[in-house]
Amino acid sequence: MAGFNWFWKAMGGQQSRNQKRSRAIVDKARTINRELDALDDAQLVARARDLASGGSVSDPAELLAVLGVAAGRTLCMTPFDVQSQATLRLLEGDVVHMATGEGKTLVGAMAATGFALTGKRVHCITVNDYLARRDADWMTPLVEFFGLTVGAITEKLTPEERRGVYACDIVYGPVNEIGFDVLRDQLITDRSQAVQKGADVAIVDEADSVLVDEALVPLVLAGNEPGRAPRGRITEVVRTLEPGTDYRPDDERRNVFLTDEGAAKVEHALGIGSLYDDDHVGTTLVQVNLALHARELLIRDVHYIVRDGKVALIDASRGRVADLQRWPDGIQAAVEAKEGLVVTEGGRILDTITLQALMVRYPTVCGMTGTAVEATDQLRQFYDLRVSVIDRNRELKRFDQADRVFATLEEKNAAIVDEIRTIHATGQPVLVGTQDVAESEELAERLREYDIEVSVLNAKNDAEEARIIAEAGDLGRVTVSTQMAGRGTDIRLGGADEADRDRVVELGGLAVIGTSRHRTARLDNQLRGRGGRQGDPGFSLFFVSLEDDVVTAGGAGEEITVTPGSGGEIDSKRVRDFIEHCQRVTEGQLLEIHSQTWKYNKLIADQREIIDGRRAEILDTSAAWESLAQRAPDRAAELSGKLSREVLDKAAREIMLYHLDNAWSDHLALLDDVRESIHLRAIARETPIDEFHRIAVAEFKELAQTAMAESVDTFRTVRIDEDGAHLEDHGLARPSATWTYMVNDNPLSGSGNSVIGSITSMFR
Ligand code: ADP
Ligand code: MG
Repeated sequence: MAGFNWFWKAMGGQQSRNQKRSRAIVDKARTINRELDALDDAQLVARARDLASGGSVSDPAELLAVLGVAAGRTLCMTPFDVQSQATLRLLEGDVVHMATGEGKTLVGAMAATGFALTGKRVHCITVNDYLARRDADWMTPLVEFFGLTVGAITEKLTPEERRGVYACDIVYGPVNEIGFDVLRDQLITDRSQAVQKGADVAIVDEADSVLVDEALVPLVLAGNEPGRAPRGRITEVVRTLEPGTDYRPDDERRNVFLTDEGAAKVEHALGIGSLYDDDHVGTTLVQVNLALHARELLIRDVHYIVRDGKVALIDASRGRVADLQRWPDGIQAAVEAKEGLVVTEGGRILDTITLQALMVRYPTVCGMTGTAVEATDQLRQFYDLRVSVIDRNRELKRFDQADRVFATLEEKNAAIVDEIRTIHATGQPVLVGTQDVAESEELAERLREYDIEVSVLNAKNDAEEARIIAEAGDLGRVTVSTQMAGRGTDIRLGGADEADRDRVVELGGLAVIGTSRHRTARLDNQLRGRGGRQGDPGFSLFFVSLEDDVVTAGGAGEEITVTPGSGGEIDSKRVRDFIEHCQRVTEGQLLEIHSQTWKYNKLIADQREIIDGRRAEILDTSAAWESLAQRAPDRAAELSGKLSREVLDKAAREIMLYHLDNAWSDHLALLDDVRESIHLRAIARETPIDEFHRIAVAEFKELAQTAMAESVDTFRTVRIDEDGAHLEDHGLARPSATWTYMVNDNPLSGSGNSVIGSITSMFR
């Protein structure tokens, strides 16, 4: 089994010691229970406060007992011993392996409450909005019993509402929303705009999904660039201008200026008033200048070439196309407009963070999942986390059948439909797990041809899915789902109300069918775990064909001879072993991809941390003013005479932050390009990651210098008055709207490119 690797064996000794100690503590907690039962609520709370005073728990057994009694009083759930044990393991910072239906929500809430009692701020991380809301609502009575506060972050909340929730002791939130708030808080220009408060602990539900499967999914914050790119009309007007009379370049040909005649011509052609009045100075004038710059100073085949409908820069010193370079977006767009190409205007990425980088920011991470053991290696390697296995409250009665193997996909698909029909004919509920949305829809279509009613779930609407999956155990139900659709929702036999429970039990419980083995056994087990909750009967069965991805990818270059029987079915232990082998190969490949990709991300995350440290200094001190005043003392003296220090601090802050953020965004774009092309560039000598490191580190050094030089430049020239620095006059406005999305092209998920998300926040 995948979990029993060298590490697991090596850690076995310590783990079983931990477990033994935990069980002893739980036993002790049980004996204290009766005594605590006699206390009234206020006394119980006082007891808890005592136990946790001083920032740590003095007697874990007593704390568990207090939490248990409180859960009984507030939620009508008295924790099973295994739940108390899991709570303790969470409090000690482990990932607990605990099967589906064992009550991980309560475990997470008890641990969160325990942490919060010691004065720690806790984030309970869920996989979606629906579960954050559900769990927060469900667990509120327990948390509030102790006088602590709890709230849920969901997509719809305004910044103001978010600020309120983040001020709570315990915050439930979907991982992506929490990440988006981190990104947005990294772009504030005044401390009062921040919505998050630092958290001490993350308790991650479905821990392997978040920490492993989706670890490399980037969360992206993008913004518009107000007035940066010249529109076609402006480019046309600029084309009619006469050099010398309408505009003049400076001697070094680094800038170009409109003359009064030129300005008048442009105003006339565009039918507007003065280019220099407030309406136009930050927008139209900037665009005209960009278009002029593109026309006069950037020469085709000298500074750039046009290739495949795109502008490609030429590296002047080497006379070659510089694939990795681009001009600032406004200029790039102006040149594209000049050449009549599609203008690649639009949003630019302001910042991005992967879920893994997000999670490692928390000083303490712990979590729970039904498939932790299988993720032991990754949890240790990437998060330095240990896994504690918690026994089931009731013995598992699910029967996991041996795979059914077929030579071809077509034969496999036919057999899957036959199998579902046969089971369905008896009334036994069936849950089918497919690999992707397309497969789930095709299968549903084929089943409907046989007049079978099918519910299809494919990760589009969490709340709706929860409702459907809750009924998946009902008599005669067939539910076709993609991986983890509807996750977190309990599947009760006989329907959500368990009305037909007895009949479904008699029929054998929930039948779980996997249409192929996943690239890791862990994902297979996530699906299997949907059946057999809390001692329910059930069975699981996977279908495999030799044409499946896992077999072709994992068995590449290996030959296996087979002799299929009727319908292409292959009943052979040797072939089943071969499939296990293929899966182990793909698991190894995924781990390798993960650790390689993380190396790239880690470096970017480290650099981001440095930037954020610098930002904090600018936000919280007078560092910005001091740096600028030191570098441009004349300007500083001039301003100091007119304006208060407070105003000057604010202006300096805005200028520095603008250029720092801008430089970071450029840096990210550049690193993205570097990474895309690094494999082409690494000419045998250097490994791609080393090459990437070299470039990233060099560019990062330059970033700081550029940001400072540009800030000083702006400081010298920009209008500064009581309202601060008028950056917009120079086309340096911050994005007026930002939006967030999650890029789902991570190599571990195996699915294609899809961008989920929408404009979620404006004008922050
Ligand atoms: P998991 O996340 O481990 O799959 P949930 O937290 O969703 O499980 O809980 C599954 C079900 O078990 C819920 O309906 C919950 O009400 C019930 N449950 C959990 N703990 C207890 C308990 N100690 N006593 C009674 N019911 C419980
Ligand atoms: Mg759960």
